[in-house]
Amino acid sequence: MPTKLNPTPVLFTPPKTTGPTTKSTWFHRASVAIGSTTILFSLTKAIYTPTDSHTRLKTLIAGFFGYLIADLISGIYHWLIDNYGDASTPFVGSHIEAFQGHHSLPWAITKREFASNLHVGARVITYLTVPANMMWHENPVVMGFVGVAGGGMMFGSQIHAWAHVSRGKLPAVVVALQDVGVFVRQSEHARHHLPPYDGGYCVVSGVWNRVLDEYKVFLGLEKVVFFLFGVKPRSWSEGNSGGGATAAVTAEDYFETSPP
Ligand SMILES: [Zn+2]
Ligand SMILES: [Zn+2]
Repeated sequence: MPTKLNPTPVLFTPPKTTGPTTKSTWFHRASVAIGSTTILFSLTKAIYTPTDSHTRLKTLIAGFFGYLIADLISGIYHWLIDNYGDASTPFVGSHIEAFQGHHSLPWAITKREFASNLHVGARVITYLTVPANMMWHENPVVMGFVGVAGGGMMFGSQIHAWAHVSRGKLPAVVVALQDVGVFVRQSEHARHHLPPYDGGYCVVSGVWNRVLDEYKVFLGLEKVVFFLFGVKPRSWSEGNSGGGATAAVTAEDYFETSPP
């Protein structure tokens, strides 16, 4: 890890690492509990619906694809909120603001309480999963896809936070899952916080980052958006998808170095 990533000074107040914004509220906890229940329902139906071995194999494959899709969607969503909109954007304004703060002081995400970090995704997943559960609850293959894709997207925020926790502080099982690429590797996600700040958007397994970055898929989409709507992404005007001058300035910003 290089010691100096960008000499540009921080030009705005860094996010607080303590205080009300990092705390879980009962609304956050209820959102995560409801989201988790919908995911558990899908997975239970996928596992326990009586069926034949052929359908069980298809259910496994559907779950695998669900996890792949969760990573891809995490990247598309992350790219969108890093580059477009602001704090006043309906529905996701607070998330856009939080991600701007995340690029200023990446390890601050590790100080957010669990439900505070997951509640936005939990509500989105609930809105998507409940109708799917109602329509396809008797189809274990669809339930396998929905349960794993929904779970991956919902818990992606926690997987992202783990990418910023020093490995010595992580449970061994999380480190092992990072090492095998089930959870996004820390080195993989670090690229998102390093110059040129235009890739590494996928934060579940990170498996899509290589292809999306190599073929400059997001840059292509940014050109299409600009051509159609005349809107430039933050990555063009500020030289950094995470907010230009608000980006992490030293390697120490990536991981927390002081004791909690
Ligand atoms: Zn990050
Ligand atoms: Zn970002």
